[in-house]
Amino acid sequence: MKQAMRKTKRARVKRTRRLTGEWVELPLLPLRDIVVFPSMIVPLFVGRPKSVAALESVMQGDKELILVTQRSVDCDDPGQEDLYKIGVRAFVHQLLKLPDGSVKVLVEGKSRLRMHLVETIDNTLFGSAEELCEPQVAGAEIEALIRHLQDRFESYVRLNRKIPQETLVSLLNLNDPGRLADNIAIHASFKVSDKQRILAILNPEKRLTALSHILNTEMEILELEQKIRGEVRRQMEKSQKEYYLNEQIKAIQKELGRDGENPEEIAELKRKIQTARMPQEAAEKAKQEVSRLKAMATMSPEASVVRNYLDWLVALPWSKRTKDRIDIVLAERILNEDHYGLKKPKERILEFLAVRQLVKKSKGPILCFVGPPGVGKTSLGRSIARSLGRKFVRMSLGGVRDEAEIRGHRRTYIGALPGRIVQNIRKIGSRNPVFLLDEVDKMSVDFRGDPSAALLEVLDPELNHTFVDHYLEVEFDLSEVMFITTANILDPIPPALRDRMEVIEIPSYTEPEKFEIARSFLIPKQMKHHGLKRSYVRFEDGAILEVIRNYTREAGVRNLEREIGSICRKVARDIVSKKIKGCKRLTGKAIGKYLGIPKYRRPEYENGGVGIATGLAWTEVGGEVLRTEATLMEGKGELMLTGQLGKVMQESAKAALTFARSRARNLHLDRDFHKRFDIHVHIPEGAIPKDGPSAGITIATAIISALTGQPVTNDMAMTGEITLRGQVLPVGGIKEKILAAHRSKLHRVLLPKENEKDLEDIPPEVLQEMDIQFVISMDEVLQAALH
Ligand code: ADP
Repeated sequence: MKQAMRKTKRARVKRTRRLTGEWVELPLLPLRDIVVFPSMIVPLFVGRPKSVAALESVMQGDKELILVTQRSVDCDDPGQEDLYKIGVRAFVHQLLKLPDGSVKVLVEGKSRLRMHLVETIDNTLFGSAEELCEPQVAGAEIEALIRHLQDRFESYVRLNRKIPQETLVSLLNLNDPGRLADNIAIHASFKVSDKQRILAILNPEKRLTALSHILNTEMEILELEQKIRGEVRRQMEKSQKEYYLNEQIKAIQKELGRDGENPEEIAELKRKIQTARMPQEAAEKAKQEVSRLKAMATMSPEASVVRNYLDWLVALPWSKRTKDRIDIVLAERILNEDHYGLKKPKERILEFLAVRQLVKKSKGPILCFVGPPGVGKTSLGRSIARSLGRKFVRMSLGGVRDEAEIRGHRRTYIGALPGRIVQNIRKIGSRNPVFLLDEVDKMSVDFRGDPSAALLEVLDPELNHTFVDHYLEVEFDLSEVMFITTANILDPIPPALRDRMEVIEIPSYTEPEKFEIARSFLIPKQMKHHGLKRSYVRFEDGAILEVIRNYTREAGVRNLEREIGSICRKVARDIVSKKIKGCKRLTGKAIGKYLGIPKYRRPEYENGGVGIATGLAWTEVGGEVLRTEATLMEGKGELMLTGQLGKVMQESAKAALTFARSRARNLHLDRDFHKRFDIHVHIPEGAIPKDGPSAGITIATAIISALTGQPVTNDMAMTGEITLRGQVLPVGGIKEKILAAHRSKLHRVLLPKENEKDLEDIPPEVLQEMDIQFVISMDEVLQAALH
């Protein structure tokens, strides 16, 4: 039934063909992305089964078929509406079956066809179409159009290099307008839709005009493309040139033997930056510097500056820290393990650690240990680090007068380096060490900036998380560092710094304390240090006392430790050279053999010394005993002061003399004694800095003793400021002064009455041995001191 219908339909088409001109009904091959023109010979690859079937049926007949282009490339099974209206009748010259089932055909377009019906019969596409004849056109206008187009096409070929020169030549020889238009359309690289537009125009004149438009647009596009390509090429040439030149530089440097492993170095740096786990700001800075380094000649001075800088950046412990261990019981054990005595400071330290544990914040005051040298300030800091499980680093601020020492120099400086804070942090390799800043009281200010201001930035918990070293230029967070400071005296520390500190005073040691420290800590430590076992040597008590009394005179135990070290060294030598056999027992007498002549003999005071009084001074190294001498000479009442006395001390000497003169009658002196005598006051030991008012009563006593000829009690020391009216005013450093008097076996001491309260902190065992008398006037002093 279906078959019968199709037959009548085909019969109807055939009939109409005869009515309207030449009609054809042939198998149809839809083309995806090509437009075939009359007279065009082209190979086609056919893969769709329907198309292959159409070709097979064609090959059995007169090898003719219809070729029509699809409207859309993507359509796989096109029907009538998916195909353009105009196609070509074509002849198949050759068919080649390919192994994959597809076929390759060589077809030649013959004439244009207008499609009327497209249908699938027996799974093959068939088309019914009307053959179109082109109208004949001729004349001058056509001729002009032909030439114009040939001209345009010539220019087009110049732009579009894909078209071979022979094609152009053959086209230039074509005179038929229709064939010329078709051939140009065949060879030009137009879009499929444009080509189809040309195919659809039957009138050759109109076809040439349309072609001219398309050609013009195409040429514009090509020109633009060429321009862009030119620009891209120029750009590429420039970068190629740079690359080439850079390569040349590298080659030259290699020849000169200066070729660093640049690429490896850069890769290594990048790796290090990554592993350093810096904060973003620093990482970006580092990357920026790496790119700068890349662009530099390997051996140039700038490159080494950048390399140095990067070295510093990557080496800092940005994210390396130790884990804190806050265990008060353990901390107490460690502090006691490392130090004898120091009850009060240890308690204060433990309280401080306990508060830190409770508050759980590193922000808080900074510990400041104040005391003379060698009393264990540094070693307490070290014990704190040990108990917290943190690393320990110590930096001395003594003599620092340049801000740059703390905060570094800017990189523009030749040989610039980061400041010592950053240097030490790098050395220790942890961002949360215990950082001991030694001798904060020894910093000085000069034209190079105020180091204490920089130090404030380091120490202040509000500021130090954004500390910027001048050299690094990026922030380094110091807020996790536990800073501890030490000082000998508190006064020189700038108030702004002092405000942020929690001061813990560590006093001088008494002789029994020194003895204990030496016996239980210093000797075992030094023996171990020198490889001496207990079976080799034994320090008798007498030996220890001998060293303390005659070879050291200090508030702390630093020299004591040094002397013990020196004995150990000598004993070690004797053992090795076999001079000692068995266990060497060191007695007091033996010490001289090892340490030579005693360095400090107990001062032998002249019995009943006239004009000699003993004062007590307080210096950075603790208390000191100061002998004060006064002598009279015939003269004209001049007062001579020698022994490197400071200004305040000189003034107190003058006040003392004025007092003596005002009391001339009471003291049974000649009224005009001052006119006949010169008075010379001398305080020996020029190396000890002497200033302050506290020598007032001592100088007055020495002068009056010299004037009256009454000797001063020999085992008495005194301290106190004098007024013109003979009042005795209080002075500072009482504790250290009493300890110094005790050390020097001066058991009788005169103190200003107002200083009575200061005896509180003095160890009771010392006080017990002392005879302290409080005075309010010079008269009392003279009464007690002169006999
Ligand atoms: P400072 O920092 O106060 O000048 P150090 O901490 O350097 O003093 O102390 C000097 C030496 O004396 C160190 O070896 C230290 O261990 C030791 N030392 C000081 N005080 C004591 C003490 N109370 N117990 C044990 N050793 C001490």
